[in-house]
Amino acid sequence: MISSSIVGFPRVGSDRAHKFALEKYWRKKITVEELVEAGKKIKLRNWEFESKAGIEQIVVGDFSYYDHILDLAVAFNVIPSRFKDVKRGDGLEDKFEFYFSLARGAKSTANGNNIEGDSIHPLEMTKWFDTNYHCLVPEISKHTEFKLTNKDLVEEYVHAKNQGYNAKPVIVGPATFIYFSKFEDNTSTESKWDYLNKLIPLYADLILELEKNGAKMIQIDEPILATTLDSEVLDAFDRAYKLLGGLIESKRNIGYGDPYYKIKLFLANYYSSYDENFDVATSIDIFDGFHFDLVNGISDIPKILEKGFKNKTLSLGLVDGRNVWKTDLKERFNFFIKNFAGLDPSVSVIINSSCSLLHLPLTVKKEKDYLETDLYRLLSFASEKVIEISQLTTMISVYRESRSLVAFDENFQDSKFKKVFICKHSRPNPDTKPRKTGPNEDKFTRISSFQGRKKIQNEYFNLPIYPTTTIGSFPQTTDIRSKRRAYKSGEITYEQYLDEIKRKIIDCIHLQFELDLDVFVNGEYERTDMVEFFGENLEGMEVTTNGWVQSYGSRYVKPPIIFAHVYRGNPMTCELMEFTLKTIQSVLDSIGSTKKKYVKAILTGPVTIVKWSFPRNDIPISEVTKQVAMAIREEVIDLEAIGVHMIQVDEPAIREGLPLKKKDQDEYKQWAIESFRTATSGINDFTQIHTHMCYSDFYEIIEIIKGLDVDVLTIESVKSNMKFLNNLVPGKENYEAGIGPGAYDVHSPAIPSKEEIIQRIKQYTKYFDKKSVWINPDCGNKTRTEAELKPALQNMIAVAKQLRIQE
Ligand code: GLN
Ligand code: ZN
Repeated sequence: MISSSIVGFPRVGSDRAHKFALEKYWRKKITVEELVEAGKKIKLRNWEFESKAGIEQIVVGDFSYYDHILDLAVAFNVIPSRFKDVKRGDGLEDKFEFYFSLARGAKSTANGNNIEGDSIHPLEMTKWFDTNYHCLVPEISKHTEFKLTNKDLVEEYVHAKNQGYNAKPVIVGPATFIYFSKFEDNTSTESKWDYLNKLIPLYADLILELEKNGAKMIQIDEPILATTLDSEVLDAFDRAYKLLGGLIESKRNIGYGDPYYKIKLFLANYYSSYDENFDVATSIDIFDGFHFDLVNGISDIPKILEKGFKNKTLSLGLVDGRNVWKTDLKERFNFFIKNFAGLDPSVSVIINSSCSLLHLPLTVKKEKDYLETDLYRLLSFASEKVIEISQLTTMISVYRESRSLVAFDENFQDSKFKKVFICKHSRPNPDTKPRKTGPNEDKFTRISSFQGRKKIQNEYFNLPIYPTTTIGSFPQTTDIRSKRRAYKSGEITYEQYLDEIKRKIIDCIHLQFELDLDVFVNGEYERTDMVEFFGENLEGMEVTTNGWVQSYGSRYVKPPIIFAHVYRGNPMTCELMEFTLKTIQSVLDSIGSTKKKYVKAILTGPVTIVKWSFPRNDIPISEVTKQVAMAIREEVIDLEAIGVHMIQVDEPAIREGLPLKKKDQDEYKQWAIESFRTATSGINDFTQIHTHMCYSDFYEIIEIIKGLDVDVLTIESVKSNMKFLNNLVPGKENYEAGIGPGAYDVHSPAIPSKEEIIQRIKQYTKYFDKKSVWINPDCGNKTRTEAELKPALQNMIAVAKQLRIQE
């Protein structure tokens, strides 16, 4: 039997309904009932769409008002004790207020000394596997009282069922939940995984409740199976699911569930193969079916065939759920026939997406008026992928019945056209348009070693100790946003838009003089987003108009599409940097100063540009990244030539790019380092290369950090407990470059006190030579208001000056 399903669908809703409803609710512009209504509408629309497209098992449980891990934390009562005083009543409003307080922080309502209530910090966020989606991090301790506090999933299932849908509930499994959770500092790995068993009874209850209400199957997502797991974790996984099986059986015996129909349990792994986890995972007999990612996990195929899966269900993730390229139906059909035509007749097959479509924009139709027709033809977002799954299912089932091929002509032609299109858009012959070369032609290595450069740069810049700087962006105010919108919609000209940006740069420079920062930036006002800007400016890349993808909560980003050879047509940041240099000079002239003021240009690094875009899928991602690296290299060389001698190349996505499987990581590290060094080594020794990284578990990428060979590293470490710094300590790792671990948390609107900043810097100087410590916020200022920015930087700079006197 052949049927079709998807792993999950985006939550965004038409016209970003999800984002706007959430934000309106937070601003108290709509009621909680209206928020719930907006959510319901999105779900209903998704179900209707999937069903009309011909998908047999539509999905419920993939929608979330904020995040699916947060949903589970709340449902399982995994609530940190600091929230104990936050009201958790039964009413709808209380329910949502409590839920959002975990995501966004709260004020305590306790009648303690503090009348206003202390602020309670929210759950942390972390990257969901190797994607740019962030989930929240549940906190588990010995005080956690695991219990089921809601049955939202069951209600949602019943709702879909009552609408007449054949619905498949999905839920993230207990092992993946534990994997993302945080434990008290002294919790051993063993006891961490022991908590799995406490979750099992809750899963059993939920599953039986679904069964009782008529659900025929449940998809349990355990993408931790795509990672390299220690054997003890795999054992814990095995034990937990056996326990689950036993518990479900014994509960059925005492009347839970449905006496006539046993719900089928499907195990879903995606983003990569099961690989060495295959045997354990597929031998757990409570699972009736297994999902395989057959785009990023094809190495599982021989094992699948060997195992055979008689009388089981195989869900084959044939359609790429993570990239925007139209599925080549004929290729996928042939792939199926070649590999799976010989499956035992007792195996049920589900044609599926490789992973949830959460990482794709809603529909490519919204781009029709904006994208070049030829490119438009080649793309397919979440909605189109659903249709492709349905078409592929038709092709396979018709072939199975009658050995004939259903021809989806348009798709067949478009797929053929892709090669032509890529060629047409590739870089002009290098002989006719040679690349820019700089003072250093070596592709991966700077002229001198770090120590040699450091000497030259110290003399060249002559900065005080504890130099102060920022990470690049200044507040993106509503006036810039509205000007940008006006420019994009053609209401104002490019020149008018540029004038506005220049006005902002002038203000920004004046502010930095007033604050007395040591190293200036120009505020990145011209960039909506650090990757989108380069997507707009590089050849071989295109940006979308409505291609929003959820990053976290109500935050959506528009990843650019890399469709051909990436190269730099024209300089991208030089004009505004020249303007910035001039502005600085004119201020210096006006006050009669002969002092030099340095400005740091900000670029986005090649790994991050590719990681936060949709890359081509016809060549390896390492190749795509190397092309981008060459383009950034040209920009770096040009910036140096116009007199910008500090250049920060941001690589916040370098950690997230690390492959899920350990065995693939060395290769990645090598090409990630090579790409960064390609981008940054074409210049003189006096030019100082900085990099900035955030949201990372840095200790996993120390080799990369060292390998980048930068002059200064600024990192978001305020929230990462020094764990990382410990690992970079000279003597242990001998990390000698300048380091700015972050004087305060820029993501919080609270103004950091001087005391807090001093404490932090003192911590840093325990690990690092004070001569190499830089003082900067831990990330860009883009999301702060101008009113928050100034006092925070004032305190930061005052601390640097105070510390200098003390030295
Ligand atoms: N330079 C960027 C900024 O200041 C860095 C952003 C980031 O680290 N994500 O906004
Ligand atoms: Zn950052």
